[in-house]
Amino acid sequence: LLTCTDVRKTFGASVVLDGLDLSVDEHEVVALIGASGSGKSTLLRCVNLLTGIDDGTITLDGEDITDPKINPDDVRQKIGLVFQSYNLFPHMTVLDNITLAPTRVHGRPVDEAKSQALEWLARVGLADKASSYPDRLSGGQQQRAAIVRALVNSPRLLLLDEVTSALDPELVGEVLTMIRDLKGDTTMVLATHEMGFARQVADRVAFLDKGRVLEQGPPEQVLGDPVEPRTRQFLARII
Ligand code: ATP
Ligand code: MG
Repeated sequence: LLTCTDVRKTFGASVVLDGLDLSVDEHEVVALIGASGSGKSTLLRCVNLLTGIDDGTITLDGEDITDPKINPDDVRQKIGLVFQSYNLFPHMTVLDNITLAPTRVHGRPVDEAKSQALEWLARVGLADKASSYPDRLSGGQQQRAAIVRALVNSPRLLLLDEVTSALDPELVGEVLTMIRDLKGDTTMVLATHEMGFARQVADRVAFLDKGRVLEQGPPEQVLGDPVEPRTRQFLARII
């Protein structure tokens, strides 16, 4: 579904992505781990075309999305992106937050967007929060609503950048459970510092080091018995 080939991204003199290769199959969940500054967020931003790449190619559904002739809005419509925090508009109810893009940007009928949003909210246990404002929700509930907002556009790919790191530890579980429930429906690439989270949701873990995927494989292997010394060092430091 997604293929990044020899992707290079520099900011001034610093090389952030240095010939990165990564492929993601349909319905697969891939966790990106690696030290702060290793390029995880930058990679997600490049995939979503929030920032351009200097070299290499990124294809989505076989289409080269780094081709200058591509309309970035068409690509972004196929990709959902959720950040660590500040995802919901504070002055809008949860339901309005979720239906805003489908109705205003994609021109879908309001009733249809609403009923689909309510279905999703029910599925993730937030049916009773539809008409609440975000500040009435816990952090975990807000983050689940933000993920629903990304999902109502039926994206081909969902990118999650540290979606649990702003949460109190006791709220991490509910977001994790939600993501695990989505497995099989949605292809996901998620950046995380929480190895427990990676282990529980990912089909594959990719360890980024200096802007490259140094090692990847099943969570048990990469997290439990890494081949590369640098992966081992990284895991030893954080666990
Ligand atoms: P973290 O785990 O802390 O979130 P990360 O792996 O997501 O780290 P990135 O945010 O991708 O790392 O950053 C990689 C490097 O790119 C860092 O050195 C950062 O300072 C640099 N960088 C990112 N965005 C920019 C930018 N817009 N301008 C200049 N440098 C940037
Ligand atoms: Mg980051």
